[in-house]
Amino acid sequence: MKYAIIGAGLAGLTAAYELRQLDPQAEIDVFEADERIGGKLYTVPFESGRTDMGAEGFLAFRKDAVEFFEKLGLGDAIVAPSGLKSLFYCGGELHAIPMGGAMGIPAKSDGLDGLISNETAQKIDAEKDQPAIDWQRGKDMSVGKLVRERYGDDVVDHIVSSLLGGVYSSAADDLGIRATIPQLAMVFDKMVAEGEKVTLAGAVEKLDAARAKSTSTGPVFGAFKDGYAQLYEELAEQSGARIHLDSFISGIKRVAGGFQLEKAEGTFDRVLVTTPAPTAAAQLRAIAPEATAALRNVKLASSVVVGMKFDSAEGLPDNSGILIAADEPGVHAKAFTLASKKWPHLGERGGALVRASFGRFGDDALVRADEDDLVDYALDDLQKITGFDGRAAGLSEIFVQRWFGGIPCYNDTHLETVAAVRAALADVEGVEVAGAWADGVGIPNVIAGARAAAGRLV
Ligand SMILES: Cc1cc2nc3c(=O)[nH]c(=O)nc-3n(C[C@H](O)[C@H](O)[C@H](O)COP(=O)(O)OP(=O)(O)OC[C@H]3O[C@@H](n4cnc5c(N)ncnc54)[C@H](O)[C@@H]3O)c2cc1C
Repeated sequence: MKYAIIGAGLAGLTAAYELRQLDPQAEIDVFEADERIGGKLYTVPFESGRTDMGAEGFLAFRKDAVEFFEKLGLGDAIVAPSGLKSLFYCGGELHAIPMGGAMGIPAKSDGLDGLISNETAQKIDAEKDQPAIDWQRGKDMSVGKLVRERYGDDVVDHIVSSLLGGVYSSAADDLGIRATIPQLAMVFDKMVAEGEKVTLAGAVEKLDAARAKSTSTGPVFGAFKDGYAQLYEELAEQSGARIHLDSFISGIKRVAGGFQLEKAEGTFDRVLVTTPAPTAAAQLRAIAPEATAALRNVKLASSVVVGMKFDSAEGLPDNSGILIAADEPGVHAKAFTLASKKWPHLGERGGALVRASFGRFGDDALVRADEDDLVDYALDDLQKITGFDGRAAGLSEIFVQRWFGGIPCYNDTHLETVAAVRAALADVEGVEVAGAWADGVGIPNVIAGARAAAGRLV
């Protein structure tokens, strides 16, 4: 069987590996537009060691992902974080990140001093007395809209957008509850099914109670000692696939005996599309126009990561990172990862490694800013927020990585869009889709989705 995979990011390479497992005789060709593999996984050779400038960690409580890495022989490469806490920066001050809740949505106002007004605190604590939320089972709703209505703007702008934005590069208003906090949507569904009054505080309280009973142990996050290159290089190697770099594919067409890719040679029995949604839309145009129409709804959020290595770590707080309130005046960055504090294996290199992130959905200005300006913003913001003077600490290495359209926007119609694409493709035998827009942006989701797609193709 001849397989073509479009895109050599995590989804494409995972699928190539999985196809090899399922069909050892398979002929697998992977077509990648870029001059390197990995997509949003990108490990850069800093002089001090290999350093991730795209994704940097994964959810280690996803045992399916950890088992997959072990099967690849990478079990010993997985490292755990220090466990140092992250902080919020809001109203010109650092605050502890409140415990519990659902991505920053609290059940009560306790522990939110300095992050919300008294009026909002009262509204949160009386939210259960408001009329029920009109939640439709199986449907979705904007996170920002609901939390603004039920609790108040400061919960969204100071807390929820920072936490969700750290994963999705979008403000809470541009994200769906089911799409990004599915556990909350499931509690709402259950409340409706059981005829219970649906309130936000009531639902989050149930999540907190379930979490308190949970017995799961071990670190929540993991990373690779030498960066994600360990993963993408291993997948490419073990897949035995032919990987064609600098191979931009613009479309797929049906021909006698299979499929051909525009701008590539060969005829294939099966095709897997793992490119970002707008590109996938164009590639599927000739064979699945309805999928193309649905995919055009998916918007992308851009961001930029500034990686900075300092000779000295003196004065850098003992925290894993800092999330900055979405409406914080006079600050450009949206978050700092204090990578050498967060990850002991990076701390062992000496000095300090810090990643500054900028940019959110709908606001690309900073992603396009001058490299020197971005570094200045990063240093100024870091000093203002933590007191750490990066210039005095000896800035010895800098890497600026822009991620145009890096993350699909999981808004309140996203899951319907994905369902529509899958329904349209159900009629096109031999073609599958996988990747961050189809399966979820987190590494374990992308891996699980790509493996499942490979299984369906075989
Ligand atoms: C800055 C940043 C930080 C992140 N941090 C984390 C994190 O810490 N933890 C986590 O779990 N997730 C994180 N993510 C999300 C995660 O990295 C991605 O969801 C995941 O890597 C996406 O993999 P993919 O294969 O679906 O897509 P991509 O990585 O986008 O791969 C798609 C590939 O298709 C190629 N391509 C595009 N067009 C064409 C074409 N026409 N022809 C051929 N090839 C084409 C691209 O060049 C690319 O290589 C982060 C994402 C970003 C942007």
